[in-house]
Amino acid sequence: MNSIRVTYCSNCLTPSSRPRIEFDDNGICNACRHAEKKFDEIDWKLRSEEFLEILEAHRSKNGSWDCVVPWSGGKDSSAIAYKLKYEFGMNPLLVTYSPLLPTEVGIHNRNALIDSGFDAYLYTPNKKLSDIYHGVFLLSGVIQRLAGMLV
Ligand SMILES: [Zn+2]
Repeated sequence: MNSIRVTYCSNCLTPSSRPRIEFDDNGICNACRHAEKKFDEIDWKLRSEEFLEILEAHRSKNGSWDCVVPWSGGKDSSAIAYKLKYEFGMNPLLVTYSPLLPTEVGIHNRNALIDSGFDAYLYTPNKKLSDIYHGVFLLSGVIQRLAGMLV
């Protein structure tokens, strides 16, 4: 029986079983090294000022939506929506493309955010269009995998 030894990043504990993860000689993963690089090379104070300028330029003056958040209901897009609304005072419209395989947790999370005061739009294409979208989506995944094999 073959077994694979799983190791973990010595900084963030990401396992070696994660796709595309690599470790340096110090056991630090490429995601941690990339994060270090971002903090060293990006002027975050300037970025923050630019972001606030963009928000002010688009902030609604009459209570209508002033931004759109592509929203899966997962933690990343939900956190973005939450921060825009409660930290920056924006009024986002959350837009979701109908999930291929809706989960009970995903439905619960989406309903919880909507119930807390967010407007949301769920786009569900008709069957014919949905089949085309899903075919293109699956094909793009195959192409990405093939491209990865060529690197
Ligand atoms: Zn790491």
